Amino acid sequence: MSAKEGSGRSFSFELFPPKTAEGMEKLKAAVIALNALGPEYFSVTYGAGGSTRERTFETVTWLRSQGIETAPHLACVGSRRTDIGQILAHYREQSIRRIVALRGDLPSGMGVGAAGDFRYANELVEFIRVEQGDAFRIEVAAYPEYHPQAANPARDLENFRRKVQAGADGAITQYFYNVDAYFGFVDRCRDLGIQIPIIPGIMPITNYTQLARFSDACGAEIPRWVRRRLQGYGDDLDSLRAFGHEVVLRLCRHLLEGGAPGLHFYTMNQSGPSLRLWQDLGLPGD
Ligand SMILES: Cc1cc2nc3c(=O)[nH]c(=O)nc-3n(C[C@H](O)[C@H](O)[C@H](O)COP(=O)(O)OP(=O)(O)OC[C@H]3O[C@@H](n4cnc5c(N)ncnc54)[C@H](O)[C@@H]3O)c2cc1C
Repeated sequence: MSAKEGSGRSFSFELFPPKTAEGMEKLKAAVIALNALGPEYFSVTYGAGGSTRERTFETVTWLRSQGIETAPHLACVGSRRTDIGQILAHYREQSIRRIVALRGDLPSGMGVGAAGDFRYANELVEFIRVEQGDAFRIEVAAYPEYHPQAANPARDLENFRRKVQAGADGAITQYFYNVDAYFGFVDRCRDLGIQIPIIPGIMPITNYTQLARFSDACGAEIPRWVRRRLQGYGDDLDSLRAFGHEVVLRLCRHLLEGGAPGLHFYTMNQSGPSLRLWQDLGLPGD
């Protein structure tokens, strides 16, 4: 039996709202290819402070017009309760049943909490539950290598537990390449009585410079040997991608064999890398 079949596991894809009409056309083509695999849902990111609000709406509306299960992200920092309430009402009208609830990061120069009613994601989760009851399934973010701003791992876990206690139903992790970081994190969560599914976020490796920049910013470690190999390929993108695929495929296999409750692929609006992983993992098409 394949990893997905009969397993009750959740396999999903993440998109970002494109800035141009051309980007939107590429997104649509990627979604059509990936949706044929039968994922549980597509999620769509949202810029903190509402910076992508209209583009996120446009992407979500298109996905819903195709009858696709959609989970909009909602980042609360820098927003008022009334703004968030209006966005949730808009999503309910579109029969959306799942939200990825986040704090978000304001652009540098604007302090956390600037001109907004929310400081942390647990406050957003609580707001959604109080205002909307069980209308939405709520996913939150988790950090197997710990959030870069956390005072220490124990405090970060306590803060993660606050989101669960406020009503989160599941979590999606920041991407990582150290499988032990994930299983160690899940074990610590279980010790604290946190029982929600914690789905690994999977970032395919297709471009070294971009990955290194993202990873430095979000606190995800690229193991030294992987970094050195990626650097060594220079402009040889075919070899870099082949190696990157093997690294991430092995990671996904270890995660599923070790009991991870699914995978959430950061697609970067490209179908190819996630599609190949899906196929090589033996996950069935719809
Ligand atoms: C799956 C996933 C999807 C994402 N999607 C987006 C997106 O669409 N848009 C976007 O802008 N960003 C997105 N991000 C990035 C995310 O917004 C940043 O990592 C942000 O810095 C933290 O968001 P959070 O929801 O995890 O915050 P929180 O859970 O609020 O945690 C942020 C930091 O504050 C600490 N903390 C939390 N609660 C408290 C508290 N009550 N008291 C004191 N300290 C506390 C935590 O330990 C942590 O260090 C995503 C991240 C992930 C993993």
